Amino acid sequence: MAQAQVKVAGGPQLSARNIHKTFGAFEVLKGISLDAYNHDVISILGASGSGKSTFLRCLNFLESPTEGEVTLDGEVVATRRNRAHQLEPSDRRQIERFRTRVSMVFQGFNLWSHMTVLENVMEASVHVLGISKQKAKDTAEGLLERVGLSERMHYYPAHLSGGQQQRAAIARALAVDPEVILFDEPTSALDPELVGEVLNVMKGLAEEGRTMIVVTHEMGFARDVSNRVIFLEQGRIKEDGPPDEVMNNPKSERFRQFLARSR
Ligand code: ADP
Ligand code: MG
Repeated sequence: MAQAQVKVAGGPQLSARNIHKTFGAFEVLKGISLDAYNHDVISILGASGSGKSTFLRCLNFLESPTEGEVTLDGEVVATRRNRAHQLEPSDRRQIERFRTRVSMVFQGFNLWSHMTVLENVMEASVHVLGISKQKAKDTAEGLLERVGLSERMHYYPAHLSGGQQQRAAIARALAVDPEVILFDEPTSALDPELVGEVLNVMKGLAEEGRTMIVVTHEMGFARDVSNRVIFLEQGRIKEDGPPDEVMNNPKSERFRQFLARSR
C-alpha cells in the first residue's frame, strides 16, 4: 500500500524541536533539537546515562516528550493524552503507522519470541500497513536474503546467534520501507566476533542512502560511515558536526575524555 507522504522540498525528513523529557524530578533531556535530512547517517555518542536511548525513544514515541515536538516531512506528530495519560486511540493508530515510517532497531533485538524470523519480519507489514500476506512474505524473504538469513527464516529467535537476531531485527525494521531507521546501540549486546556482520549490514544501508540515526559506541562506524556526529552530555548536545571535524578537534574537554576512553 502506498504511504501518504507530504514531502517538503529541501526540508528535514525527521525533526526534533526542543525535546525535553523528565522522569519524576529528573530532567533527562534538556532541550534537544535535531534535523535529519534525507540520506543522513547521524551517529549519537555519549556516556552511559547521558540520555541517548531516551532521545531515540522520544523520536518514535516509545516515550512521550515532556515538551517539544517531532515532525516528519514537516508534519507535527500528534501525541494527545487522555486523563489516564494514555494515547488517544486515534493517535495510537497514527503512532503505529508513524513507527512504520520511523522504525527502530534495539540493543536487545526485541524480536517476538513466539514467531519465526520470517513472521517477525512480516508482522508490521500485514497488521499495521495492511499489505497482503503473500506480498509481505515476498518482501520479507528478499530482505532476509539480503541480510544473509535465508537459511534461518523459519527458525525462532532463541535458536539464532545474537548477530543473526540483530540482522533479523534490521530486516524487520526495513520491511515497512521506513523513511528513517533509528538504531539504539545495535551491536552492544553482541559477542565481539559478531559485531562485524551487523555493522556490515548497516554500512550497506548507509551506502544505499537510507536515513539513519545511530546511537553507537563503535567509533569506526561513527567516523567512517556517518556524515554527522553528535555528542550528548547530561541531556544536551555538546558537539555536532562532520565526524572528522568533531572527532579530530573536540570542542569540549568531556568529549576529548570520552574519545580517549573509547580508543
Ligand atoms: P543512555 O542511553 O545514554 O545510557 P538513557 O536515556 O537510557 O541513557 O537514560 C538517561 C537517564 O534517564 C538515566 O539516568 C536513566 O536512569 C534515566 N531513565 C531512563 N529511562 C527512565 C525511566 N523510564 N524512568 C526513570 N528514569 C529513567
Ligand atoms: Mg542507552
